[in-house]
Amino acid sequence: MNAPLLDIHDLRHTFPKADGGDLLVLDGIELQIAQGQIVGLLGRTGSGKSTLLRLIAGLAQPSDGTVTYLGQPVLGPAPGIAMVFQGFALFPWLTVLENVQLGLEALGLPDPEIRKRALAAIDLIGLDGYESAYPRELSGGMRQRVGFARALVVHPNILLMDEPFSALDVLTAETLRTDFLELWGDGKLPIKGVILVTHNIEEAVLMCDRILLFSNNPGRIIREIGVDLRHPRNRLDPQFRDLVEKIYVAMTARGTAAQTGSEKQITINTVLPRVSANLFSGLAETLAPAPYNGKADLPVLADELHMEGDELFPVAEALQMFHFAEVEGGDIRLTDAGKQFAELGTDDRKKLFQRQLLQYIPLAAHIRRVLQERTNHLAPKSRFLDELEDHMSTEDAEHTLRAVTAWGRYAEAFAYDDDSGAFSLENPS
Ligand code: ATP
Ligand code: MG
Repeated sequence: MNAPLLDIHDLRHTFPKADGGDLLVLDGIELQIAQGQIVGLLGRTGSGKSTLLRLIAGLAQPSDGTVTYLGQPVLGPAPGIAMVFQGFALFPWLTVLENVQLGLEALGLPDPEIRKRALAAIDLIGLDGYESAYPRELSGGMRQRVGFARALVVHPNILLMDEPFSALDVLTAETLRTDFLELWGDGKLPIKGVILVTHNIEEAVLMCDRILLFSNNPGRIIREIGVDLRHPRNRLDPQFRDLVEKIYVAMTARGTAAQTGSEKQITINTVLPRVSANLFSGLAETLAPAPYNGKADLPVLADELHMEGDELFPVAEALQMFHFAEVEGGDIRLTDAGKQFAELGTDDRKKLFQRQLLQYIPLAAHIRRVLQERTNHLAPKSRFLDELEDHMSTEDAEHTLRAVTAWGRYAEAFAYDDDSGAFSLENPS
């Protein structure tokens, strides 16, 4: 029997933390990919999807476990694996043709062959006539076509795509997805398998044969969902909608690590979603009155608010952390406190927000306690940042502190001065 295209076994990956410890980013990853599959990786921000792609491409080595490509261990950049990036990564001073040819230079082919293959890739991806244009002369969609051509020109076996459509406007993204699927379906692409990283649930259902759901902190594969629908797929097809719903349900299921709601113990060191008090109020105010009357199906709500699932999840998660809502089975339901919050006027709303903040977000209560205990009621940001960095990445620590700062300010639980970088207490009692 043929070796699978890609075989990942018991992969684990850590990054060094500021305190000298390790941050576990990926854990227990098992993944086999057979020829002819498009596999989607779907997960929240920071779940390690891009890291996994880099490990597959051989751009870094996993801390533990193995990546095997066509029976051979991947120990460095693998020639048969190419990548398409979200930000296109084109060289502005090179033409379309030169940018695409760049992909081939490492292969040591004769010049006429390089030119021939580059032109063929450009033609295939629909850029015929733009060979001598510079990236700045192209629209975002055309630039990403160059990104695809540059990856395809090496005739890779595996194409890795890291949110390739997310920087494009809605219509351009859809055209590019459809064009890609058509070429793939017609067997015109010189590739045998695709891994697509995305935040976008509908995109995953539109394009993939298998969808792997990732949890956060650390990134683990918590669920695999197969998509049996025939191409071209129709987003309005009830079976399509059912799959989207199924993924929402899986991503909001209790007891799975995909969510960090009230079910999962929130500690001083929990990474907090950066959701402004405005978004909080906005979602609660949308949910409270008819037609929702406090309860909504997340995919329906995302649709109506023109938000991707991934934009809506953090807001839903934040409401849940404050015990303003419960999220389960793909639904969000306001609690009594949440309904109250939606209906109160500004001052009372702030008071309720403060109560929930200090009761349910331990980091906020901790900051307030430290400020109360100090005679000058002041503490530098670094005081808390250092603590957080012992438990999470520098990036997450910054985000978490910003989130709690914004909430603390809105709630008037504590103040923060950007110039001096200090927290303070306005009303210490
Ligand atoms: P997103 O959806 O936002 O693109 P992701 O799932 O691709 O997120 P990664 O970029 O793989 O996530 O990051 C996973 C975690 O690893 C994050 O907590 C991130 O801060 C951390 N991380 C990534 N690269 C490094 C690095 N070079 N050094 C330290 N930490 C890193
Ligand atoms: Mg990423």
